[in-house]
Amino acid sequence: MGSEDLVNLALRRSIFYPSAEIYSNSPSGFWEFGPIGEAMRRKAIDFWRRELLQKESFLEIFGAQILPESVFRASGHLENFNDPIVQCRKCASLYRADKLIMDSSKELVPESISTAELDALIKKHEVKCPKCKSKDFATARKFNMMMPVSIGATGDVQCYLRPETCQSIFLDFDRIFKTCRAKLPLGIAQAGASFRNEIAPRNTLLRAREFGQMEVEIFFNPKKINSIERWGEVAEYKLNLMQLGKDVRAVSCADAVAKKILSGQLVAYYLARVQQLYEKYGVPLPKMRLRELADNERAFYAKEAWDFEVECSEGWVELIACNNRADYDLKGHAKESKKEIKVKEEGDSEAFIPHIFELSAGIDRTLYVLLDLAYKKEKRGPEERAYLDLNPKIAPYFSAVFPLVNKEGIDERAKALANELSQCGIDVLHDDRGSIGKRYARADEIGIPYAITLDFETLKDASATLRERSSMKQRRVKIAELPEALWKLQTGKSEF
Ligand SMILES: [Zn+2]
Repeated sequence: MGSEDLVNLALRRSIFYPSAEIYSNSPSGFWEFGPIGEAMRRKAIDFWRRELLQKESFLEIFGAQILPESVFRASGHLENFNDPIVQCRKCASLYRADKLIMDSSKELVPESISTAELDALIKKHEVKCPKCKSKDFATARKFNMMMPVSIGATGDVQCYLRPETCQSIFLDFDRIFKTCRAKLPLGIAQAGASFRNEIAPRNTLLRAREFGQMEVEIFFNPKKINSIERWGEVAEYKLNLMQLGKDVRAVSCADAVAKKILSGQLVAYYLARVQQLYEKYGVPLPKMRLRELADNERAFYAKEAWDFEVECSEGWVELIACNNRADYDLKGHAKESKKEIKVKEEGDSEAFIPHIFELSAGIDRTLYVLLDLAYKKEKRGPEERAYLDLNPKIAPYFSAVFPLVNKEGIDERAKALANELSQCGIDVLHDDRGSIGKRYARADEIGIPYAITLDFETLKDASATLRERSSMKQRRVKIAELPEALWKLQTGKSEF
């Protein structure tokens, strides 16, 4: 589908929409989720919890969003978390220098380029200001993307909104390792908001200034990168690997390690879990790839990096940064805080700094791509039907209950059924507005997998019509059997 269809649907049904939209001076790059969008977003996070965190015995924390400057001095963000920007001297428009050059020259600009080299490229390609066509640019400079916050009445404690959720995981590692009686490899996870002062927020949820991350940081002993307990479960599983300068190939985890495409079993194991997670979300395998990043594309803290990308109508979108951060973070925080962060494993004589492999996923990006891939339009006779062919576990409601008419007690029975389903733990939408056709259409376009209609038959034999969204197949079910039937569908114990 086109991204326009998705944005139209999102705005029409208040799935997501611009923040503070009634004010004309609200900055772009901030988004709200309405009731339907928030339900989907919450379920997308819960899915990650159930299918990744619980199955891998990762521990989840919830850290503060504002952290002191020392944290970001140690992490390298004060020094390195910059975008190069350039300003038009004539109309004062600001641009990301590398983007501007790439858009007007098609030349690929590496992330690690210096400002002097950017100035030279702007001259060489005679880059024009997209707004006023002037070629007169001020020299490029680095712009730090963190958002500063002053704390306290005098404002003298300099803090920042976190640009990634993982820093509190690094800060908390020592405490959690000791108090939770953990052992390596240890995965600590967090889902929450991060903030980046993007110069040019765009593509709605794909590049926003406030965005959700669900991150896992796996702490491990670098000497044991090739002794993974559950290796047998993934050894023959094939990853869609796209090595530098090569096409995507399906390579088994065992081969990827043997041929040194990946640095060890631990990396292969968790990349497999990532790809499997998105298969379960409902992304088809051919639309996924793990793309190796070149030296000049990698974040400043990563020594090995694979972007998990999914192809949607916006092209290939990065959903997860999989980075081998080695001992960069713990070493940095130990040095800055002057507190030792080391562990000793059983039978080991010497304490060491654990290495870190991270799986840093975007929540809003994941949701955007799932919606984009799920959006279907089809001709049904003279009518066109639009629906979200969404994983039922991400749908905002699992079922909808409609009374055919609002009379003769049918409406009352529908309300009672909705109540009962809800008490049985099945998310249900009760909708009695407009025609029955419109109600189906409204439920279909937000991806509700099952709709139940109560009609005049119901009064005679206490049965209702159960309809599946994507196939539009229907069957008649006794009302008393509906809770169990839906529960079985929800838990995968039966198929429609
Ligand atoms: Zn200009």
